[in-house]
Amino acid sequence: MTVIASNVNDKAKRQSKQAYLVVTDLDGTLLEHESYCYDAAKPALALLQAHHIPLIFNSSKTQAEILPLRQALQNQHPFVVENGAAVFCPTGYFGTTASEESAVWGVARSSIIKCAQQLREERGFLFKSFVDWTDEQIAKITGLSVAQAQLAQQRAYSEPLLWEDSNSQLDLFAALLKDHCIRVTQGGRFLTLTGKFDKSLALLWLKERYQRYVYPSQTLITIALGDSLNDQALLEVADIAVIIQSKHAHNIQLLGPKTIIRTQQPGPAGWNEALQALFAKILSDREPYYG
Ligand SMILES: [Mg+2]
Repeated sequence: MTVIASNVNDKAKRQSKQAYLVVTDLDGTLLEHESYCYDAAKPALALLQAHHIPLIFNSSKTQAEILPLRQALQNQHPFVVENGAAVFCPTGYFGTTASEESAVWGVARSSIIKCAQQLREERGFLFKSFVDWTDEQIAKITGLSVAQAQLAQQRAYSEPLLWEDSNSQLDLFAALLKDHCIRVTQGGRFLTLTGKFDKSLALLWLKERYQRYVYPSQTLITIALGDSLNDQALLEVADIAVIIQSKHAHNIQLLGPKTIIRTQQPGPAGWNEALQALFAKILSDREPYYG
């Protein structure tokens, strides 16, 4: 593990009352890429639980995909879906009204699809998107099981599509979508259409709420973990950024966080390595905080 810059050892800060919020990407970060296994992260997961440190999932996954994982991990904290499109808090979590328990930055999927299909009709662009396929077809194209494809299809704020036209046509398509405030991002195989937001907005929204309602008299330190470029904005606004080793990790360059850690191991093993080391340092000379 390489610590590039650190203020964790700052004695004055350590003596002040601090609280911690951990916000994590899932695929390739807390979960293994292929198997979605998180066994290697279990020691650090147990550590967070023992010290009542909230763990927030912030993923490209849909709400339908994240809910079973929250259940498996017995996670009862807020969570962020579809690359930061929306955040959902459990009822009464912050003691606020129902209308304040979620926030949405994304554009509704129905609007995105309508706009893309209209452009396809008008301009003859060649592409297919999730809405054009059955669950069985999505399973075949993505390699997901049919059950997983069904969950992936339950999207609210994004539409993945397979481009079958030229690059110049894609540039035109992207420019036309931009006029409708829709962004095209390149994933592995798919392009994804979304509104204009990123994973950082939910972190800042949650930080403000935790600070106000849960830790009003403490300094709240945010720790974010991610492994690829779509985590860059999230990592950038955290106090402590943990870049999990991956084939894309070297592309992540950060200026914002006070502490930047690059793990040696990928996925949940790297997640475990970084959080165990961090909290060993943080908790070594003070009583655990029971929030
Ligand atoms: Mg990832």
